[in-house]
Amino acid sequence: MAMQQEWADKDYYGDLGVSSSASAADIKKAYRKLARENHPDSNPGDKKAEEKFKRVAEAYDVIGDEQKRKEYDQLKSMISSGGFGRFGRGGGSGFPGGFRGTEAEFDLSDIFGSAAGGQAGDSGLGDIFGGFFGGRGGAGRNARPSRGADVETEITLDFREAAKGTTIPVELTGEAPCTTCHGSGSKDGKTHTCQTCSGSGFIRENSGAFGMARPCTNCGGTGEIIEDPCTTCGGTGTVRRTRSITVRIPAGVIDGQKVRLAGQGEAGPNGTPAGDLFVTVHVRGDEVFTRSGDDLEVTVPVAFSEVALGATITVPTLDSPVKVKVPAGTPNGRTLRVKGRGIPKRSGAGDLMVTVEVKVPKDLDPSATSALRAYAQAEKDSGFDPRAGWAGL
Ligand SMILES: [Zn+2]
Ligand SMILES: [Zn+2]
Repeated sequence: MAMQQEWADKDYYGDLGVSSSASAADIKKAYRKLARENHPDSNPGDKKAEEKFKRVAEAYDVIGDEQKRKEYDQLKSMISSGGFGRFGRGGGSGFPGGFRGTEAEFDLSDIFGSAAGGQAGDSGLGDIFGGFFGGRGGAGRNARPSRGADVETEITLDFREAAKGTTIPVELTGEAPCTTCHGSGSKDGKTHTCQTCSGSGFIRENSGAFGMARPCTNCGGTGEIIEDPCTTCGGTGTVRRTRSITVRIPAGVIDGQKVRLAGQGEAGPNGTPAGDLFVTVHVRGDEVFTRSGDDLEVTVPVAFSEVALGATITVPTLDSPVKVKVPAGTPNGRTLRVKGRGIPKRSGAGDLMVTVEVKVPKDLDPSATSALRAYAQAEKDSGFDPRAGWAGL
């Protein structure tokens, strides 16, 4: 993707003190002035000036370049419009005010999945918004993140567990809700509405063609100021600890699949939504079953007499065994289909594919031997020639 993820939490126009509709000449002028004022040579030892100088240079590198500026504007407008994916709950432009809500509806893969090759949960997807709200620089510099971090883990399942779906306990170490303050970060529950953003958590900037919203730095995007911070968590609402959660793995996961569990990642500060948990599932092989898509495959040993005369055989499934009728004259290696006994799906299930494999006895007792000799003669007499019509002759 051409757009750079780190741009999401930057405010390059703000850094240069120009509006987003400023002309290229104005941007250049603003950059020159600020670069001169904050140049390290004229401000020896001044860390603040140095930082400002770097930020100004970075900003100019992007919005001073016509192509990069276009891409940056696109990314910003996409974020501020909120008109895609589940972000659009509030409709219209700007962020919906509900980021403090309990709905962990931030399915980033819905938004940027295609651009990132559909790999939900790849690192970086979360960074776009995590970074924007979290603010590593630029506008959100002083803001606290408004969503918990995503967490990745791996589990290994038996073939049958993976096929049928299972629940499995997983131990995770990370930010979890503080039990003292129940995640609010407040000792007595008392908060007052942030004056800077009037409780919305966002500062709207109407500049040029775009209405931009950025997280309020006064309250960290929460819209509220805690009066008496909880001493256990220092007012963040979260503490680092190991927790055990039960993860539900849907039926039919395949080896290497990544399962996303919304809201099961690290707790967000001050009761903000938790991040997501991404579980990479490894699946062990099975002694009896293999699978092909949604079909479950099994090979069943049979006697020659069973396939020649026809028989009903008992075949294992993921649940209780089923009886399968093998018609008389079934050739070795024939596959019989049992509908609906394969891998369970949301609606219905795949099929069970039963392949018969004729077993030849190594030793026969005298009565079986004499019976088989009699059979061989009868077979010959009947005119059966196994190599009749065979191309090898
Ligand atoms: Zn607390
Ligand atoms: Zn605020």
